Amino acid sequence: MPSLTSIADEARIALDTLSDRTSNLWSPSLRLGVTGLSRAGKTVFISSLVHNLIHGGRLPLFDAQASGRIAKAYLEHQPDDAVPRFQYEDHVADLVERRVWPDSTRAISELRLTIEFESASAWGRMFSRGRLSIDIVDYPGEWLLDLPLLGKNYAQFAREALDSAAEASRSDISGEWVRLSRSIDPDGPADEMQARQLFDAFSDYLRQCKHDSRALSTLPPGRFLMPGDLEGSPALTFGPIPLAEDHKIKPGSFAAMMERRYEAYKRHVVKPFFREHIARLDRQIVLVDAMQAINAGAEAVGDLERALTEILNCFRPGKGSLLTDLVQRRIDRILIAATKADHMHRESHQRMQAIVRRLADRAIARANFSGAEVDVLAMAAVRATREGTAGSGKDQLPVIIGTPIAGESIGDETFDGETETAVFPGDLPERPSTLFAKSDSGPPAVAPEIRFIRFRPPRLEQTAEGAKLSLPHIRLDQALEFLVGDQLA
Ligand code: GDP
Repeated sequence: MPSLTSIADEARIALDTLSDRTSNLWSPSLRLGVTGLSRAGKTVFISSLVHNLIHGGRLPLFDAQASGRIAKAYLEHQPDDAVPRFQYEDHVADLVERRVWPDSTRAISELRLTIEFESASAWGRMFSRGRLSIDIVDYPGEWLLDLPLLGKNYAQFAREALDSAAEASRSDISGEWVRLSRSIDPDGPADEMQARQLFDAFSDYLRQCKHDSRALSTLPPGRFLMPGDLEGSPALTFGPIPLAEDHKIKPGSFAAMMERRYEAYKRHVVKPFFREHIARLDRQIVLVDAMQAINAGAEAVGDLERALTEILNCFRPGKGSLLTDLVQRRIDRILIAATKADHMHRESHQRMQAIVRRLADRAIARANFSGAEVDVLAMAAVRATREGTAGSGKDQLPVIIGTPIAGESIGDETFDGETETAVFPGDLPERPSTLFAKSDSGPPAVAPEIRFIRFRPPRLEQTAEGAKLSLPHIRLDQALEFLVGDQLA
C-alpha cells in the first residue's frame, strides 16, 4: 500500500505538472537543466550561451540563429520566486570586462531567457511570431549522486563509505577519518562535539578525494562538498561509523543520532531536491571535465564513468528505480559534453569526443535508464585560445596560443597573466580504449602526456564601430541545436 507521504508526493507532482502545462499554453517554456560536478564548467557554459544568444553570436550550426529567424533574445523574470537567480550580469562582467573566470556554481540557481523567432515553415509563420522561454536551471551534479542513498539505510551507507575508503586511490588519505570513526562507540552517548569532529574529518577526506591530483567523482553525500544553504545544519552533521550487520541501534546512542540525521538528510534534502527540481526538467546537459580525469589517471576515469552512470540514473528512471515515485518521465534529450576543448588543438577534438562517447556508452549500458535521446560533444563554452604551429619543416607541431593565468607555469617558466604564450598541449590517445583498459582486465591503462595550463578568458574582438562581439566558443552552437533547436523549428 502506498504511504501517505507518497500519495501527497504524487498529488503534488500532478498539480505541478498541470500548472506547468497550462502556463505553457500561453507562453511555451522549456526547462533546461545544466549540471556537472564542481568545476566542470556550468557557470561558464550558461554565461556564454546566454551572451551569444542575446548578442547575436556566431552560431553557424544553430539553425534558428544561422538562418536569421531569431528576432530577439532577452532575459525575463524567472517563474520560481524561491530559487536564487543565476547571476548572469556579474559573471559576464568577470568574463568580458575583467577577463577572469567567474565564481563557480555552489547551489541551485535559475535564469529565464526568452527567444522570439520566425518559424521555419510557411505554415508556422501564418500563426504570428513564435516565442519560447527557456528556464535554465543550474545545479551541482554532486546533488544527483545522492540518489542511491534513498535505497540505503545508515548502516549500509556507512559500510560502503568505509569500503571505498580502503580502495587504493583513497586509502592514503582516509586514515584520519577511518581511525576516528573506528574509535567511536556506537552505543555511547549522542555527543554533539563528537558528531562535529566526525563530520569534519569525513568531509575533509571527501575534499581531498576531489582534489586535482586524484579528481575522483563519486563522493556522497553530495551536500558535504556542496552544502548550498545547509552549511552547519544538523541534517548535515553526521558521518559514517562502522556497524556490524546485526547491530541493534540503541535509542539515545551515538549511532541512533547518526541514523536519525542520515534519514533527515534523505527526507529533507535529497527527496525535495528531486521532487521540486529534477522532476520538472525537459532537457538536460551534463558537463564533464574529462581532461582533468584523464590527467589524473585510470582510477579517476573509472570513477567519472561511475558518476556518469549514477547521474544518468536520475533522468529517465527505468523500472524499479528509486525515483519512480518522485520523478515523472519527462526528460527526452540529454547532452553529455566534455568542456574546455580549447585546451587541446583541433586535431585532438575528435579523440576527446570518442573518449566521451565511450564513457557515455559504458555509463548508459550500466544505468537503469531508457527512452531519452543522448548525444555527446567535445566543446568549449568560452574559447580562451587560438591555434597555431610551432617549429618548421617536418618538426612543425600544432600548438594553442593564449594568455596563461598569472602564476601558472611550464617547467621553470612562470607566467605573469599578461603575456601571450604558445603551448604544445600534447596528444590524446588515438584509441580511447587505452584509457579504460584497467577496468576491462586488459593491459594497464596508459595516462597520456597532456600539458594542461589554465588560460585567461579571451579579449573580445570588436566591430569596426567599436562594439564588442560575443564570446568565442567551440561547438556551443551544436549543443544549442541539440538542446533547443527543435523547439524553434
Ligand atoms: P562550475 O563549478 O561547473 O560552475 O564550473 P565553472 O563554470 O566555474 O568552471 C570552472 C573553471 O573551469 C573555470 O574557472 C575555468 O577555469 C574553467 N573553464 C570552464 N569552462 C571553460 C571553457 O569553456 N574554456 C576554458 N578554457 N576554461 C573553462
